[in-house]
Parts: sequence; C-alpha cells; structure tokens
Amino acid sequence: MEGTTAYIGIGSNVGDKLFNCRYSVGRINRLRGCHVTACSTIFKTEPEGVSGQDWYANCVAQVTITQRPSQLLKGLMGIESDMGRIRKKRWETRIIDLDILLFGQEIIESDDLTIPHPLLHKRRFVLEPLFQLAPELMHPVLKLTISQLLNKLPKGPSVEPLHTLATKNMLE
Ligand code: ADP
Ligand code: MG
Repeated sequence: MEGTTAYIGIGSNVGDKLFNCRYSVGRINRLRGCHVTACSTIFKTEPEGVSGQDWYANCVAQVTITQRPSQLLKGLMGIESDMGRIRKKRWETRIIDLDILLFGQEIIESDDLTIPHPLLHKRRFVLEPLFQLAPELMHPVLKLTISQLLNKLPKGPSVEPLHTLATKNMLE
C-alpha cells in the first residue's frame, strides 16, 4: 500500500493493561486506510509526571497510512472512547491512550494536533519502544535520530521490556 509511515504511542494503566494495548493495535489496523506494519514489545513503565498511579504498559505501533493526520487522530479518539476512556483531565489514569508520535517527516502545529508529539524526546517509555522499530529514524524538528535522542536522555523512571522481566523471573 502506498502511504506515509507513522508511529503511534500506546499506553494503559487500568484493567488488563496488556490486553488493552494489544486490542488497540488490532483496532488501529482496522482503521480506514491504515495498516499496522510492526509493533514493539510491551514495556512496563513507572508513571512519569504524576505520583500514586499504578504502572503503565507502553508500546509503539508502526503504521502505513493513506489518511491525513487529523483523520488518524479522529480514528484514534474513536478507539479510545469505544474502549471506555472518559476524558477528564490530562495525565489521569487511563484505559488506553493513543498518541500520534510521528507522521512521516511532517511538522504540524494546530489547536488539536502537535506532530512530532511534543514530549516524544523526553519520554523513555516512548523512545525505548520506538528505538526497537526505527533507531535511525530522524526527528524532523530536532534533527536527531531516535538512537541519539535515547542516548541523550537522563536516567528517569524505570522502563523495562516485559518479555525480559518474564525471563528474569523464570531464572530466579
Ligand atoms: P495526553 O495524551 O497528553 O495525556 P490526552 O490523550 O487527553 O492527553 O489528549 C489531549 C489532546 O491532545 C487531544 O484531544 C488531542 O487533540 C491533543 N493532541 C495534540 N497533539 C497530539 C498528538 N500528536 N497525538 C494525539 N493527541 C494529540
Ligand atoms: Mg493522548
């Protein structure tokens, strides 16, 4: 399929978090003009920016898309609301959060959409899964690759791939 490669950040910290992440990837794949071409492993993440919340499951999906970013955002918000997310305040506990991280090399600043996602380069829980999929991908504003952004990032809250945790537990 002809189209643009985009990356979607996925997060959940309520209910069956792994199911929520996986289910949302299936739903993204069924959006019109959108195909999931790869998905990172799921990471277990300490909440960032807020205290007293449960851990998050985070992953990133790579898609090929023939729709415009605004249509993708509508589609993602439809999935969030179908999955029972009620939007109250920012950074609240959430069943599912779907953010457009990158949309080709496009730079967008509108009332309801900022691409690249403004916090992409500051969040390990975004950069680690993105690194699995596209280490050499260029951030169109900062002009640094995902790999370079990750190397520059100060140590923050823990972000661990869940499959590694499973292996560790088996060996203990
Ligand atoms: P957050 O993801 O920052 O925790 P929300 O998921 O509640 O917050 O999103 C709040 C608003 O962010 C959305 O209504 C959407 O219009 C806006 N927004 C701006 N840029 C983006 C983006 N790149 N991806 C997703 N939403 C975005
Ligand atoms: Mg969001």
